[in-house]
Amino acid sequence: MNNVSSIADCYGCGVCAIVCSRNIIKLNLNNNGFYEPKIVDTTKCINCKLCVNVCAYIHDDISSKNSVLKSFAGWSKNDNIRFECSSGGASYELGQALIKAGYEVCGVRYNCVLNRAEHYIATTSEELKASIGSKYIQSYTVDCFKLINRKKRYLVTGTPCQIDSFRRYIQQFKIEDNFILLDFFCHGVPSMLLWKKYIAKVEKETGKTTSVSWRNKHTGWHDSWAMAVTGNKCSRESDLNPIYISHFSKGDVFYNLFLNNSCLGKACYDKCKYKYNNSSADIRIGDMWGQTYKDNQKGVSAIVAFTQKGLECLEQCNLELREIAFETVTEGQMLKSPKKPMCYRWCKLALKMPIKLNIVLFISKVINFCGHKILKK
Ligand SMILES: Cc1cc2nc3c(=O)[nH]c(=O)nc-3n(C[C@H](O)[C@H](O)[C@H](O)COP(=O)(O)OP(=O)(O)OC[C@H]3O[C@@H](n4cnc5c(N)ncnc54)[C@H](O)[C@@H]3O)c2cc1C
Repeated sequence: MNNVSSIADCYGCGVCAIVCSRNIIKLNLNNNGFYEPKIVDTTKCINCKLCVNVCAYIHDDISSKNSVLKSFAGWSKNDNIRFECSSGGASYELGQALIKAGYEVCGVRYNCVLNRAEHYIATTSEELKASIGSKYIQSYTVDCFKLINRKKRYLVTGTPCQIDSFRRYIQQFKIEDNFILLDFFCHGVPSMLLWKKYIAKVEKETGKTTSVSWRNKHTGWHDSWAMAVTGNKCSRESDLNPIYISHFSKGDVFYNLFLNNSCLGKACYDKCKYKYNNSSADIRIGDMWGQTYKDNQKGVSAIVAFTQKGLECLEQCNLELREIAFETVTEGQMLKSPKKPMCYRWCKLALKMPIKLNIVLFISKVINFCGHKILKK
């Protein structure tokens, strides 16, 4: 394979687009709402194969499979930060410590104009704040990754597949020493078609989005799967109280379709190599679900150091760290890629049609229920 022109339904990490010296690879959303590379002018391709070399999707192995050095439960020593972050604030504290040490941080923020998640570069603690909180949609990487100066030092955060390709990129240019890579235990990413329908429905109430938070701890960490959206219809007085708030535990339709795996990327089902301890990052984080902190409502991060460099960074952060066995840290994590549920094909089709999301969800549940009944017989 000379270039990525035949690749479809990949991880959509965009690293092929940044490595291309001819600048002919664009990352677009495909028909199913997932990022995918497209070569816009194949006649300009010089067959250098760089795009193929950095692509984690087409390689069966992981670029740098390290074993677990140490694992922790951890949380920010700053209660305000801990409250704002999805779990314990490990990601923010790591970024903060590294900015102080002269690094820049490639994190993910939400772009309210385009209604998408995107990587960006933070150079100050203030700029880093936009990366707080998980955005449970695929992030667009290309504009940010293109700004990376190979001579500077960075913390790069992302899904495990984005990080695996990124590791290949820095290996290719022999600049690994300048980078610290952070990934997370990843459930998978849902289709942007789901997100676009969802946010369009919410905007009817809120007006044009001005902020989105996917997780919030007003009813505690264990019930923090709650979408909070503000829009330009918010009055000044209600700015602090998001106008739209919707909990997974109360049937939120986005979370139901996402967490029940109804419309993840094809690669999340078929080609995710990154569950459990499979990572090419220096550090992996996640929510410390499971028994140990089942009564904690402030939020605890699961933290795994895979490299000595990662471990040293963690020890410099404003984090309370409790060393815990890896098996305990990963108690609540998926061990394998999810299976496509019975409703998968229905969802794929329905998300492209003008069908309301609550109907998509209702029919999905019926399909899954009937499917299981038939299988049991
Ligand atoms: C799509 C997705 C699936 C996840 N699945 C799981 C899971 O199955 N199990 C689990 O324990 N944890 C999962 N997480 C991670 C979890 O939600 C928390 O991010 C993690 O616990 C760290 O929390 P925190 O308090 O340290 O940081 P947070 O405040 O949550 O910081 C979020 C960090 O993640 C980065 N980030 C945010 N959104 C994205 C995105 N769309 N793509 C790439 N990077 C992003 C930010 O740059 C920041 O570094 C997932 C996150 C995402 C985005």
